[in-house]
This record gives sequence, structure tokens and C-alpha cells, in this order.
Amino acid sequence: MTETHPTAPGFATLAVHAGAQPDPTTGARVTPIYQTSSFVFDDVDHAASLFGLQAFGNIYTRITNPTSAVLEERVAALEGGTAALAVASGHAAEALVMHTLMTPGDEFIASSKLYGGSINQFNHAYKNFGWNVKWADPDDPATFEAAISPRTKAIFIESIANPGGVICDIEAIAKIARRARVPLIVDNTLATPYLMKPFEHGADIVVHSATKFLGGHGNSIGGVIVDGGSFDFMADKRYPMISAPRPEYGGMVLGETFGNFAFAIACRVLGLRDLGACISPFNSFLILTGVETLPLRMQRHCENALAVAEFLSGHPAVKWVSYAGLRGDRYYNLGQKYCPKGAGAVFTFGLKGGYEAGVTLVKNLQLFSHLANVGDVRSLVIHPASTTHRQLTDEQKIVAGAGPDVVRLSVGIEDAADLIADLDKALTAGA
Ligand code: PLP
Repeated sequence: MTETHPTAPGFATLAVHAGAQPDPTTGARVTPIYQTSSFVFDDVDHAASLFGLQAFGNIYTRITNPTSAVLEERVAALEGGTAALAVASGHAAEALVMHTLMTPGDEFIASSKLYGGSINQFNHAYKNFGWNVKWADPDDPATFEAAISPRTKAIFIESIANPGGVICDIEAIAKIARRARVPLIVDNTLATPYLMKPFEHGADIVVHSATKFLGGHGNSIGGVIVDGGSFDFMADKRYPMISAPRPEYGGMVLGETFGNFAFAIACRVLGLRDLGACISPFNSFLILTGVETLPLRMQRHCENALAVAEFLSGHPAVKWVSYAGLRGDRYYNLGQKYCPKGAGAVFTFGLKGGYEAGVTLVKNLQLFSHLANVGDVRSLVIHPASTTHRQLTDEQKIVAGAGPDVVRLSVGIEDAADLIADLDKALTAGA
């Protein structure tokens, strides 16, 4: 049955149209790629008002760009946020969020089940800024509460965790964040707003690696930060980027001037402007084109992932399969609650033959590409212990769900029967 939306457009309509209009100069229907570094000012007063944040407009593509602006509006609309910022990568999105929230000596609490690159970023790169991570167990929300201290400034989780399988109880963790009066940041990369909208469950900030399902075609790196507009940064004045007079802008208090999208503005005019991790307009164009088919692709990704997971569960070489879409999976109920349309397309399974069997499987697969990405229309495979999670200690690997026997799949949108045949052949050859 077709949904009717008397007041607001539906998700698929927003995925195609939000933020875009025919080009005012040429009438081009598709958002053009504004491949320019800079924009001519109308006059000196116009330039001054842009630099002083008295007017919105374009100065320089490191800070804003009209192609990227459409991507930002579209993702903000799909997530239900007040504003968004497109940046160079998912990692840049995480770093800019933290740069806006943290001061040296501050702490944040992160789920221990995260993409391995984020674990490295939090454990090592952030130390140079004096931002300290404390780890908590997403399966036991009380561990987040126990980790809170007077220096805690944020909580960070993934909605569906990479390398996959874990579905976070966002509402339980959001309650803890509310009590601690800190924002909850949710990395919604693997779910995308098609499967789950974290703001509806109490998140305050959403980040994406747009490199993955948003773009969807494995052709460009990008990231997005979405401001939920829900966190009151002015209440305790603990976030000086937003609640204190900014010397960069003649003493302006961004929280007073920009209200419920001040966080996104701070990420742009303080973080992106000064740290420079901007997205190329060409990448914004490609990601935007990908977003237009997000609902269709995600549905197919999920259907294929379930078919593949069911096949693997019955295979003699497979010890276990961790996919929340499978009845009986430990995250099945959370999956039904948070992602009723499907549990995503990235999941892990364990091989009876351990590390060696994992390495052999990736060698034998033909349709699945062995590479370090997820969220492509093509099916992908990786053995995290020998690749993405290699830098972690054995103990950290197991905590992160990347033990020696673990194989991660990102199931594409090909014919499920062909994917199953490829896996069957490779597993049989390795047995
Ligand atoms: N968050 C998640 C869940 C990811 O899977 C990744 C990359 O794999 C990132 C963040 C980092 O994104 P990027 O590679 O675009 O920097």
C-alpha cells in the first residue's frame, strides 16, 4: 500500500528532492557540480557580512559549496535533523564533532563495538588533542552510566555496529546521556535513515561515513554530521565552542545567534573552517546521486543479506552467524524494534576452521570483492583480524567482534542466488 503524507513528503520523495531545485541560472534539473574554489562577492559590504556570519552565502569551498549544500539539506531532511554539514570523510565527521564538543582533558564514553578505524582514532589520534575515551559495553547500558565523570562531554555509539551484528539499545543509552546532560552521538552509517532514524530514539547528533550506503557505489569518500537540534548547549555552558563568546567572530555566542542548529554551525565555522577537512563538490554530487536510490537499494541489500545469512547458518563449515535479521539471533528483538525494515547488509560469521579458513575463503571468493569497504552495490568480503582490525591487540579484536575466525560481509544488490553460489563454492573449496 502506498503511504499518504498529507503534510510532509515521504522518505523516497525526500531522497530524490530534498534541498534541490532547478538551477536558477541554467534550469539544469540535476544539481550541478559547482567545481570552484571560491565565489565572487557582490560588493565589499556583502563580503563583510559573509565573513561576520551576518548573512548566509558562499565564500570558499572549504567552508560551503552549493553542490554540497544540497547534500547537506537532503541528509538533514532524511534524518529529521535541523541542519547538516558534509565533510571529507566519516572520520572527518567524527573528528569535527569531537573538536566542537571537547576541550583538552575532557572525556567521552564510546561503545566498545565500533568500526576498527574509529577505535584507533579514539584511542590514539585523539590523545594528541587531550580528548580521552572511556569504553563501555553496548550490550550493558549500565556500563555507560558507570563511566560518567564530571569531565564527560559526550557519548558515542554506532546504531548497527561495524563489523556488524550488534544493534545498540539507543533509547536506553539516550536516557543515560540525558541524565548526564551530555549529547548522544550516533554513527548511523550502517543503518542509514532508511532503516533507522536515531533522532526518533533520543540521539542528539548523527554522523555518517557517506562513503558507505548513502553514496552506495564505492566511488567516493565523504562524511556527514547532522544536528538533531535537541541538545541544549546553553543550559550548563559546558561547550565553549557554542555557549561562550567566540574571539573568531567578534565575541558572537553561536548558541544565541543560531539556536537549534548552532552545533552544525559551530562544526562548520570553527571546525571545518580551521581544520579544513572539506568534501570535494564532485564527491558531493556522486553521493547525492547515490542518496536518490537509497530506499530501493537498502531494501534490496537487506533482503539479500537475510537470504545469505540464512544460507550460511545452515552451512557445515560455518560455526555461527551474527545477523540481527535471523530469528533467534541475540539482537533479533532489538532489530525488530529499531530497524523493522531490515537489519542492514553488513554482518559477520565465524568459520569452524578459524584464522586460516578466513584467509582461504577471501582468496576463493569471486563475486565478492576482497576489500576494506562496506555499503557498495557490489558484494564485499573481508577478514577483519588480518586487515581492518590488525592494529588492535587480540583482546581488543575479540571485544570489537573481530576475532580470528570472523569474516565480515557487506552484501550487495546482485542476485541473491549468485551470491549464495559464490559463497558455497568458496566454502566447499576451502573445506
Ligand atoms: N563509521 C563507520 C561505521 C564506518 O564503517 C567507517 C568506515 O568504514 C567510518 C565511520 C569511517 O568513514 P570514512 O572511511 O568515510 O572515513
